[in-house]
Amino acid sequence: MHLKSLTLRGFKSFASSTTMRLEPGITCVVGPNGSGKSNVVDALAWVMGEQGAKSLRGGKMEDVIFAGTTGRAALGRAEVELTIDNADGALPIEYAEVTISRTMFRSGGSEYAINGQNCRLLDVQELLSDSGIGREMHVIVGQGQLDQVLAATPEERRGFIEEAAGVLKHRKRKEKALRKLEAMQANLTRVEDLTAELR
Ligand code: ATP
Repeated sequence: MHLKSLTLRGFKSFASSTTMRLEPGITCVVGPNGSGKSNVVDALAWVMGEQGAKSLRGGKMEDVIFAGTTGRAALGRAEVELTIDNADGALPIEYAEVTISRTMFRSGGSEYAINGQNCRLLDVQELLSDSGIGREMHVIVGQGQLDQVLAATPEERRGFIEEAAGVLKHRKRKEKALRKLEAMQANLTRVEDLTAELR
């Protein structure tokens, strides 16, 4: 599995549609300060489901949408497409090539798609979670992040290890199931109360 291409449209400083082809092996992005190198990495994290505006170096999520320059008006939406070569079947989907896309409108909300089919954020997260590209994005090491790992609490460090070992996905599912059980229990109690009232 390798990342094959990345297309940015209206994402941060990339107002026009820009596609980067990525070959297997090492890819370097070079350019002067402020030219948008880190924006490319932000786009990668964003399309894979990143939810934290701070992780994307912004104050709020809409900051990822091209905000305009003196010569060009702001845009109403940001879109990123990531194509992954899945010839080795590393991703649990029956396609040799997988394109994940995320679109965000200034009015709010994100839309996700896998190979052109609209899907939920959860579907994107689940697709990627066994590939080593987990929802916590530990594959993307930003500037200053190593300090963060060194200063992490034991709980946070356990989170990193769980993510790497693929346990986190099951923990999240367990938490979701427990929440459903709790809601069900509350409903049962309500039904019992009503039955008692009717007797
Ligand atoms: P450095 O080498 O200094 O780390 P860089 O090449 O990584 O720089 P980035 O941080 O990726 O540069 O890009 C910063 C540029 O992106 C700034 O010029 C900033 O104005 C621009 N930018 C960020 N968000 C937006 C946005 N929403 N709309 C337009 N431009 C944006």
